[in-house]
Amino acid sequence: MLSGEGTRGHLSRTGRPLRTWPTSATALAGVIGDPVEHSLSPALHNAALVDLGLDWAYVAFPVRAGRGEAAVAAMAELGIRGLSVTMPHKAAAARACQRLTPVAERLGVVNTVTNLGGYLVGDSTDGPGFLDALTDQGWGPTGKHCLVLGAGGAARAVVLVLAEAGASRVGVVARRPEQAQEAAALAGEAGTVGSIDSADDADLVVNATPVGMAGVEGDRPGDLPFGLEPKRLGPGQLVVDLIYAPATTTLMAQARARGAETCNGLGMLIHQAARQVQIWTGRSPSVEVMSAAALRELGKRAEQGTLGDLPQLREPNGSL
Ligand code: NAP
Repeated sequence: MLSGEGTRGHLSRTGRPLRTWPTSATALAGVIGDPVEHSLSPALHNAALVDLGLDWAYVAFPVRAGRGEAAVAAMAELGIRGLSVTMPHKAAAARACQRLTPVAERLGVVNTVTNLGGYLVGDSTDGPGFLDALTDQGWGPTGKHCLVLGAGGAARAVVLVLAEAGASRVGVVARRPEQAQEAAALAGEAGTVGSIDSADDADLVVNATPVGMAGVEGDRPGDLPFGLEPKRLGPGQLVVDLIYAPATTTLMAQARARGAETCNGLGMLIHQAARQVQIWTGRSPSVEVMSAAALRELGKRAEQGTLGDLPQLREPNGSL
């Protein structure tokens, strides 16, 4: 039995919190970020941990920019079992780890830190989470032409995982050519700096820019990333937007209207979190339970009018 496994008796039958939980045996995990108060991660992770019946708790730690490395190093002393890492700490967290998985090593950033008895291992579950979301759509990259819009942290994770999963071509479109080149290089021979006009030739188009999120500076409602012409989208294509609020972006609506299949970024968000739970606890969480928790939380925020408070996942150095 894993330590931390057992009944998590934090709610009474009436649903009221019990004073006996958490206890000194409760295992702790969390997310560090700045800002972090609007993170969906506590809702997703706690739903999974409760469902698994584990005596674990997951909290949000606001950690100021520049203090990420110290915060991650401290988890070894505090016995924090796992940390999710979000902006702006992903590169700093990688520096604080004693070992990086090969994917984290390639990307130079981590979104997951695991404390193995004081030995910190950094990993990145964003790319695999994205691939899981494609699998949910019944879509696989083998032999496919993929076009990734954007070259920041999310785009880099997507480019790498698409190439590793056998895409024949991975084009990257970005406004800074050197950034596009660097991201495309992650795909090895399959990687190219793409043109937005090659979208009509792509089997998969992924928006990994914030264009389409409410309130993005310089983004006019109705704009598509890089001035993409909707006529370039159509049947036989899958168009994925990594944005999940709003649930349907203008890009997705335009693509759907022209017969393309679409999906938003919620599946990726849920799957990357599910992989973290699996890494930390050794147990497979229910993706359905996590999805339901995410939708409940997003619904609550929509009602309260606080959806726009979701942070844009941007790091000052352009990494995820
Ligand atoms: P990032 O590291 O800041 O990268 C953003 C990329 O978009 C950069 O290449 C940036 O170019 C480009 N960009 C920004 N504004 C643009 C504009 N108006 N026109 C064209 N390109 C523009 O951010 P990120 O962490 O990769 O996140 C990108 C998107 O993915 C965000 O919408 C984020 O919410 C989403 N995301 C979703 C998940 C998920 O689990 N669903 C996970 C991570 C990220 P410059 O460098 O030139 O500014």
